[in-house]
Amino acid sequence: MAQASGCIFCRIVAGEIPSDMVYQDPEVIAIRDIRPQAPLHVLVLPRTHLVSLAEVDAAQAPLLGRMLLVVKQVAEEAGVTQGGYRVITNIGRDSGQEVPHLHWHVLGGRPLGPLVSRGL
Ligand code: AMP
Ligand code: ZN
Repeated sequence: MAQASGCIFCRIVAGEIPSDMVYQDPEVIAIRDIRPQAPLHVLVLPRTHLVSLAEVDAAQAPLLGRMLLVVKQVAEEAGVTQGGYRVITNIGRDSGQEVPHLHWHVLGGRPLGPLVSRGL
């Protein structure tokens, strides 16, 4: 399994750092965000280290599809599908990506407001 030394999400995958894991399979895990922005704030990520969508290609298409199905399952199990929810992935500097290990944010449980802020 490809891991990056020093990557916090690789360390969570390896069990070196504790997490509140809500889903796991051989390829994908889902953890609660440590600084939740909404009642539901879960991160869905691959066990293997990929920095972001920027470094994904067609070889990862099946993995990406499975991750989105996990996103959907997490939302269904949290009971937010009727109210709606938001799925976000940050890529690089302008997005504000903090952790350079591909992940989807799954946010819901309250009205989420505008899609983006007007800046810092
Ligand atoms: P991003 O800015 O898209 O890279 O988002 C990174 C997210 O990871 C942020 O929402 C952080 O709160 C979250 N985060 C950072 N460290 C941890 C951790 N140890 N466990 C769970 N979530 C974390
Ligand atoms: Zn990583």
